[in-house]
Amino acid sequence: MKTASRVFLSIFVLLTVSLSFAQQGEWCGFDPILEEKVQENPNYMDELKQRILDIRQAGNAQSEKAATYTIPVVFHIIHDGGEGNISMDQIQSGIDVMNEDFAALNTDATQIRNTTDAPYAPLHADIEVEFKLAKIDPDGNCTNGVERKFAPNLTNDAGEACKYSANGGLDAWPNDSYLNIWVVNSIEGSGGGTTLGYAFLPYNNWGAGHGILNRHDRIGRIGTAEFNGGRTLTHEMGHICGLLHTFQDGCHSSDCESSGDYICDTPPTEQVFGCLPSNNSCNDVPVNDPFGFDVLDQNENHMSYNTCRRMFTEGQKALMHNNFENISNFVSLTSAANLVATGVNEPDVMCKAEFYADQEVICVGETINFTDASYHGAVGWDWDFPGGTPSTSTDQNPSIVYNTPGTYEVTLTATDGNNQDIETKTAFVRVLSNAQPLPFYEDFENVSSIPDDFWVVKNNGSDQAFEIKNVGLSGTKSAGISNFGQPVGGIDELISSPIDLSGITDEVTLSFRYAYKKRFSVNEEWLRVFLSNDCGDIWAQRKTLKGNQLGENVDGNSWEPTSDNDWVTVHMTNVTSSFWVDNFRVKFQFEGDNGNNFYLDDINIYQGSPSDDPVLNLNENNSFTGFNVYPNPARDNINVEFATQMADQFVVDLMTIDGKVVQHKLIQANSGNNLIVLDGAGLSGGVYFVRVGSKGSAAKQVKRLIIQ
Ligand SMILES: [Zn+2]
Repeated sequence: MKTASRVFLSIFVLLTVSLSFAQQGEWCGFDPILEEKVQENPNYMDELKQRILDIRQAGNAQSEKAATYTIPVVFHIIHDGGEGNISMDQIQSGIDVMNEDFAALNTDATQIRNTTDAPYAPLHADIEVEFKLAKIDPDGNCTNGVERKFAPNLTNDAGEACKYSANGGLDAWPNDSYLNIWVVNSIEGSGGGTTLGYAFLPYNNWGAGHGILNRHDRIGRIGTAEFNGGRTLTHEMGHICGLLHTFQDGCHSSDCESSGDYICDTPPTEQVFGCLPSNNSCNDVPVNDPFGFDVLDQNENHMSYNTCRRMFTEGQKALMHNNFENISNFVSLTSAANLVATGVNEPDVMCKAEFYADQEVICVGETINFTDASYHGAVGWDWDFPGGTPSTSTDQNPSIVYNTPGTYEVTLTATDGNNQDIETKTAFVRVLSNAQPLPFYEDFENVSSIPDDFWVVKNNGSDQAFEIKNVGLSGTKSAGISNFGQPVGGIDELISSPIDLSGITDEVTLSFRYAYKKRFSVNEEWLRVFLSNDCGDIWAQRKTLKGNQLGENVDGNSWEPTSDNDWVTVHMTNVTSSFWVDNFRVKFQFEGDNGNNFYLDDINIYQGSPSDDPVLNLNENNSFTGFNVYPNPARDNINVEFATQMADQFVVDLMTIDGKVVQHKLIQANSGNNLIVLDGAGLSGGVYFVRVGSKGSAAKQVKRLIIQ
């Protein structure tokens, strides 16, 4: 009986630190997953064994190919715009490490033992298989064998979800033509380890997610994997080709051809970590054992958990070849017709000029570093940089300075000597306007659309971006996102051009207003406010509102604010002195969770405390019923939240337990909800009190706060 079961294997890494030494081991999440499979189908292991034995039987009756097997590979990079979006060079390094290991060309092979108790060097096998990046995609178009997708919600603690475009990930290419490898930041795990990668065995039907899921820092031996050796891919590809762990079933003396890992020249072993040459976890000598006596553990095997993995054996090679010959998808993958269809053996021909840049939005006078990503076989480059200095270049990877605000295109013509291709990216470079002076005020009333020459808009993974909305608290306009019905995890950003804070001497306040309702009570949507003191190269997160903090009210329809009470005013007093520079920028980031619309208005930055807010008007006769302070305990950011019926000046004091005021804020509070962000950094831990009340009233309220 065939089942749809796929065996799931993964590698974990555990750090065990003792006083005298640090030991690092890697292992698979095979056991719990296998238990799950066996629970679903009690005959699972018997069926797996029968399938392997059938394939071995069939393989023995066939003549093996004389030439090396070639397997076309495609990488799907699932990234969040960070270092996990690894370079083409690092991907090629990953291919190179695998090919060296499978061809027994790894330089550390000299360390494989050949002693009486560990006679392993002569068993080190050239598997005669080669992995090559595809050059033709499933539609017949030229490719470099790499797809990339910005999907921040799928690349951390990643699992099967990232393998499907319906989730915002990347679909497999047909798995009878390509071997699929997905690359992510981190992988969901279990137990005490970190999962480095996992793959499926080939013996059952290859599902839509068949292939390898691997962390980017375990691909190749350069870039983010510089210190990790890149052997995870080799191990996972071993599973893909049909190998079990060498310690499958642990110690045993039964027939090595039909038990354990079904390979005779990998002696029985327990799960062993590290690389002690004296490791000898099993004393058994199985039936049909080729050694004939108790040998030491084969620490060197790629399918062990040892840290000195550097060989496949002749026995493992025979099983892999049997699989290549008898499993239909392998037959198809390695067929001459498929190698033509995927272009892997074709000579390099320039088919696509391509490039990327280390940044696309800069301040006046900054430099952009461009990187050529053309394929295949580029030997000449002709760049045009209108607005840049220099304005042309023939370097492969030029660096260009931009001195004038504006939006510019970039053109690259790449050639292999015979063929050329041209790529023009319009509006690729954005040089921001010169810094705005204080006080800065944006009510969007005079903005017809965004992005404009001041506001930068980004949306990733969402369909709708920040745009001008015809509702507002002051006036009739705001910047909003039609978030209703958008994908979960989509990220929208509204980013300022530089603002000059260099003249600040004492204190600065950043205030803004927002309106938001949930669509469902379970929505966990985020507003994050980031500040930059270097024109946006590095962003510091200085305010986070999530879920109920952002808003508790629910509206099942696509919502827009209708009254002043729908708006919350946020006063940030934690724009600390490190941000008082001439190229300060602020970024508002909204992350969706299948919730409702979000509106932003009245962004205001001014020297002084919140009471100096030049926008809000004073009012008398206030009614104030109480306030919240969170988180509690707190550390850096302390949020004080209260509602008032009328705009008024409010006092917010942070006091020590003996009544000494350590922070005093006078707030120009708005009618409706107000949120004041205090900076707790620098305060020593302990019990404090927060005191809030109208400035003109003796009645104030006090709450206890723990600073950690
Ligand atoms: Zn494994």
